[in-house]
Amino acid sequence: MSPIDLRSDTVTRPSDGMRTAMYEAEVGDDVYGEDPTVNQLQTRVAGRLGTEAALFVPSGTMANQLCLHVLTDPGDEVILERGSHVFNYETGAAGLLSGVQLHPLPGDRGRLKPSQVEAAVRPEADVMPRTRVLSIENTANKAGGVVYSLERSQALAAVARKHDLAVHLDGARLWNAATALDVPENALVAPADLTWVALSKGLGAPVGSVVAGPAPLIDDARRARKQFGGGMRQAGILAAAGLYALDHHRPELTRDHEKARQLAEGIAECPSFAIDLDAVETNIVMFEVPDDTADEVVTHLRDQGVLVKAFGPSTIRATTHRDVSMEAIEQAVNVLHAYADRAPAPTS
Ligand SMILES: *Cc1c(COP(=O)(O)O)cnc(C)c1O
Repeated sequence: MSPIDLRSDTVTRPSDGMRTAMYEAEVGDDVYGEDPTVNQLQTRVAGRLGTEAALFVPSGTMANQLCLHVLTDPGDEVILERGSHVFNYETGAAGLLSGVQLHPLPGDRGRLKPSQVEAAVRPEADVMPRTRVLSIENTANKAGGVVYSLERSQALAAVARKHDLAVHLDGARLWNAATALDVPENALVAPADLTWVALSKGLGAPVGSVVAGPAPLIDDARRARKQFGGGMRQAGILAAAGLYALDHHRPELTRDHEKARQLAEGIAECPSFAIDLDAVETNIVMFEVPDDTADEVVTHLRDQGVLVKAFGPSTIRATTHRDVSMEAIEQAVNVLHAYADRAPAPTS
């Protein structure tokens, strides 16, 4: 039997309908701007996010790095939350590719507060870096997929504007945020200067993200994409998967959230695990295991056919997605219960 894979929503495989759409895609050379399917995807995403233009890119990491690159000069500083993907999981790329310094702040459940951003903006001084960008992540992955409300996003953008900072929005899971809040994506994107969305996570496409913003910034991003080695040729085959995902998979995201809720409630019943049910807002479930045993628990669960990820010495992340059924979630809960029944209770 294939394992129940809750390591990430990136493990989703293209559905049959998606594969057909990819097979049938009309293509051209996208470095010449001649791939009709890529152009269609960019137009569609820009329309949906309410931006002037958009750019198809190979990965979310490249999307983040392009955004930072076009919004900064070397030596500038970017304020972000300390759990953010840009700070933790991009192998130092912001320093390497753009020569910027990152200024991480501790958020409440992964979310920055306007007052702490305000306090972190550097005054104009010869000895200090220029604070140029406020980077936020919606949903905040490491915090367990928690959502920035519309009000919080707007309040942060107001602080940024006051200090002349650009707002960068990492929207790897913006679809999940919009689903959880029941607002259209464009409302969440409006406070940002530059954003991007992933097609290859919960939406289930094999590859690809789309950067979105004003046309001049997207022109800069296209140039930087070539510099970073991300210019693709007949990429319409991949863009077709993205278009298919928007039509057919995006409307189904609520189910991923229901599965996460089910999983979280199952975990909450285990006395040896600790979980904050209020923090489970989308498709990510973070829970605590007895002292420093995360790796051990991950290995045990793997042997029982359930794949999850250690996110700290005592923290585990499980992510729901379209390739895991509600029945599989129930099975995973049974496996967790069986483990918990024989494990000691956490001391904290
Ligand atoms: C996955 C992820 C990224 C990076 O996307 P890749 O396509 O894996 O490079 C960036 N930000 C967040 C919040 C993510 O979850």
